[in-house]
Amino acid sequence: MDTLIKVENLRVSYPVAGGLFGRGGGVVNAVDGVSFEISRGEIVGLVGESGSGKTTTGRAIIRLAPVSGGSVFYFNGKDKTDLAALSKREFFPFRKKIQMVFQDPFNSLDPRMTVFKILCEPLDIYFKLDKKAKLKRAEELMELVGLEPSHLFRFPHEFSGGQRQRIGIARALAVEPEFIICDEPVSALDVSVQAQIINLISDLRSKLNLTCLFIAHDIAVVEHISSRMMVMTEGKIVESGVSSELCSNPRHPYTRRLIDAVPKF
Ligand code: ADP
Ligand code: MG
Repeated sequence: MDTLIKVENLRVSYPVAGGLFGRGGGVVNAVDGVSFEISRGEIVGLVGESGSGKTTTGRAIIRLAPVSGGSVFYFNGKDKTDLAALSKREFFPFRKKIQMVFQDPFNSLDPRMTVFKILCEPLDIYFKLDKKAKLKRAEELMELVGLEPSHLFRFPHEFSGGQRQRIGIARALAVEPEFIICDEPVSALDVSVQAQIINLISDLRSKLNLTCLFIAHDIAVVEHISSRMMVMTEGKIVESGVSSELCSNPRHPYTRRLIDAVPKF
C-alpha cells in the first residue's frame, strides 16, 4: 500500500463557555483520538451526523483547527513528515499539496470577483506566472471541471449551484494538489446535481491520480464515491472498512442508524 496520509491518534479540543458566571467551562473533544490511513489515488469517505467532528478532522489535517494531540504524517516515498509538528513556515509547501473543497459554493466564492480572479488567487500565492500564462492555466482549469473557458470573466452569481461547485473544485486544483479534502461538497446541491459533481470528482481522481478525503453526512453519497469509508460520531471513528461491505453489513448500531436515515425512493 502506497500510503500518502497517516493520521495517528489525532485530537482537537475546544473550550466551551459555560457554568455560572463563565466559570467551570469544560472542553469539547471535537476530534477524540482518530487514526486512519489513505493511500495515494484513493478516495476515502468520512461520514457522520452533524457535530460528529468531520469538518474539524479535515481542518486539523491542514492546521486550520488547533491540534491538541497526535500526528498527521504526510508521505513522500519513504520519507514522512508530521504536519502537526511543523512551524508555519515549514508547513507552507505542504499547504500547496493539500487543498480543500467546501460545502457552500456560493459563500466560499467572493461575489465581487470574476472566476478568473478567483482562480488566480491560489496561482499567485504559489506560482510566478505572467498574465498570459495565468489565462492559459485558468482556461485549462475551466475545461478540466467541465465549464466553458469563455465564461472566465463572469461572476459567481451568473452560474448555477452545480457550476459554482465546479469553480470551487477548479480553485482547489489550481495549484496541482496531491490531496484534496472535500467537506460536504454536494450537501448544498439538488439531488440531480449531486451525482454530476460526484462523477466529476471521481473522474478527476483517475485523471490526476488525486487522493481524496470525502466528507459527507449522507452515507449513500459516501458509499457511491469512496472505496473505503469511516463512520464518525462524537469525535471518534466507530467503524471503518470497504464501503460496499460496510453498507451491506453494518456492525455498529450508529452505522445502521445512518443507513436507515437515507431516504428511500
Ligand atoms: P461536523 O463537521 O461533523 O458537523 P464539526 O467538526 O464541525 O462537526 O464539529 C464537531 C464539534 O466541535 C461540535 O460539537 C462543534 O460544536 C465543535 N466545534 C467545531 N468548531 C469549533 C470551534 N471553532 N470552536 C468551538 N467548538 C467547535
Ligand atoms: Mg462539517
